[in-house]
Amino acid sequence: MRIAVDEATCVGHGRCYALAPDVYAPDDRGHCELLMTDVPPELEAQARAGEANCPERAISISP
Ligand code: SF4
Repeated sequence: MRIAVDEATCVGHGRCYALAPDVYAPDDRGHCELLMTDVPPELEAQARAGEANCPERAISISP
């Protein structure tokens, strides 16, 4: 599974890194910084939780 974040769409709500701190982190403005782009199986649930809870739909997941 791969993840990406649209930096132009992210406004820094912080839902992603609050819910999935092993996958997403805040940058110095509170916007989403990916800790990885290729997500290992044990972190897929966190990656999906972050994606599903982003109010801006800024995170995308691909197989
Ligand atoms: S939840 Fe969405 S808008 Fe908020 S920091 Fe994460 S990616 Fe950005």
